[in-house]
Amino acid sequence: MDAKQISTYVSDIIEDIKNNGDKAIFKYLKNFDNIDLSKKGYRVSQKAIDDAAKRIPKQLKNVIKSAYSNILAYHKYERSQIKKRWNYVRSGLKIGQFYTPVESAGIYVPGGRFPYPSTVIMTAVPAMAAGVKRIAMVTPLKNMNDTVLFSAKLCGIKEIYCIGGVMAVGALAYGTKTLKKVDMIAGPGNVYVNEAKRQVFGCVGIDSLAGPTEVAIIADKDVPADYVVADIMAQVEHDLLAKTYLLCESTEKISEIEKLLPKKAFKQLKTELCSLSKAVDIVNNIAPEHLELLVKNYRILLKNIRNVGAVFVGYQTPTASGDYWAGPSHVLPTNGSAKFSSGLSVMTFLKRSAYIEMSKNNKKAYRAIADFAQAESMQYHKKSAEARYFLSSFFSKCK
Ligand code: NAD
Repeated sequence: MDAKQISTYVSDIIEDIKNNGDKAIFKYLKNFDNIDLSKKGYRVSQKAIDDAAKRIPKQLKNVIKSAYSNILAYHKYERSQIKKRWNYVRSGLKIGQFYTPVESAGIYVPGGRFPYPSTVIMTAVPAMAAGVKRIAMVTPLKNMNDTVLFSAKLCGIKEIYCIGGVMAVGALAYGTKTLKKVDMIAGPGNVYVNEAKRQVFGCVGIDSLAGPTEVAIIADKDVPADYVVADIMAQVEHDLLAKTYLLCESTEKISEIEKLLPKKAFKQLKTELCSLSKAVDIVNNIAPEHLELLVKNYRILLKNIRNVGAVFVGYQTPTASGDYWAGPSHVLPTNGSAKFSSGLSVMTFLKRSAYIEMSKNNKKAYRAIADFAQAESMQYHKKSAEARYFLSSFFSKCK
C-alpha cells in the first residue's frame, strides 16, 4: 500500500470503530487475528495478568524489575526538575503557569512482529511519574505474552486490552462499550498505527509519531568494527523499514565493517565517507531517532548536535542501553520529526496552563485592555475591562 492507500484504509477502520464500537472490534479481531472474542471480550482479566506474572522465571523477573526501577527513578527525577507552578508579579498583575497531568492515557504497545515488554515500561512509567490517574494499555493479542503482562502489572496497569493496530487506536480515541475513551494516546507502532494516531489527533492528544526505528552512527577510524556491526543489526532486526546510517571518516574502517555485516542489512543501510564535522551536519539534517557517537573525542561533536531523539555517547554506549536499561524512554521521534519534537517523557503527559490574576484599581491595565478591544470592535470585551474599573454598574444601567 502507498501512503494514500494506507490513509484511506486507516480512515475506513476508524470510522467503523467510531460508528459500530465493539461490533467492529470483534469483526477485525476475526479478520486480523483469526479469533472470536465476541463472548469472552477483549479486556484481559486480572487473573490472567496475575497468572502471567507467576509463570515468569525469577531471574527474568529480576531483570525486568531492575530495568523498571532505573526507568522509574529517571522519570521521578525528571518530574522533580519540573516546577509544578511558577508566577511573578508585574505592574499589579500576577502571571505564571502551572502543570497538570492528563487524566487518562492510552498506551499503545506494539506487537505485530515481537512482544515489547520494554515498551510497556518505557511508555507507562513516564505517565505514572507525571501523575496520570487512568492508564489503559492496548497490544496485539499475537504477542501479548507473559513478559508483556508482567511488565504492565509492575507498572500498576489494571486495564489491558488485547487489541492492536488501527482498531486499537480508534477504540482508545472514540471509546467503545468495553473500552472507555482516553484523553491522549502514547506509544510507538508501525506505519498503520502512526497513520491512525495522526488521524485521531484532535479528538485525543498524541505523543508524537514514533514509527519504524532508525540509527545514525558517527564512527571514527579507531572504533571496533564489531560494535558498529552489532548496533546496525540491532536496528535492522526491528523492522524491514528500519533505517541505518553509517557516517565514517575512514575508508579502511568502512570496508572492515562491510566485510562483517550480514548481506541482508545493506538494503537498510546508507554509508557515507566524510569528516566527523561533516557527519554532524548530515545528522542534523536527517534528525535521527538514535545517534551513536562512536568516536574518541565526542565532546567537540556533541556541542553541535541539534536534531536527535537520543544520543548515545562513546564507544561503550550501544543504543540497546537506552532500549532497555538506562532510564530515558526509548519511545523517540522518527522519520525526521526530531527536528520539531522530542521523545516520550513526563512532559508528554503534562498540560501547561497559564495563570492571570489582576489586582483591583489597575486603571492603566483596564484602560489598555479596553482600548485594544475597541481597536477590534469588540464591545463586550471592552466593557468587561471597563466594568471592573470605570463602569461598575454597567449592566444595571443597561436594563
Ligand atoms: P504494531 O503493533 O505496530 O502493528 C501491528 C498491527 O498492525 C497488526 O496487529 C495489524 O493490526 C496492523 N497491520 C500490520 N500489517 C498490516 C497490513 N499489511 N495491513 C493492515 N494492517 C496491518 O507492531 P509491528 O508491526 O511489529 O511494528 C512495531 C513498530 O514499532 C516497528 O516499526 C518498531 O520499529 C517500532 N518501535 C518503535 C519504537 C520507538 O520508540 N520509535 C519502539 C518500539 C518499537
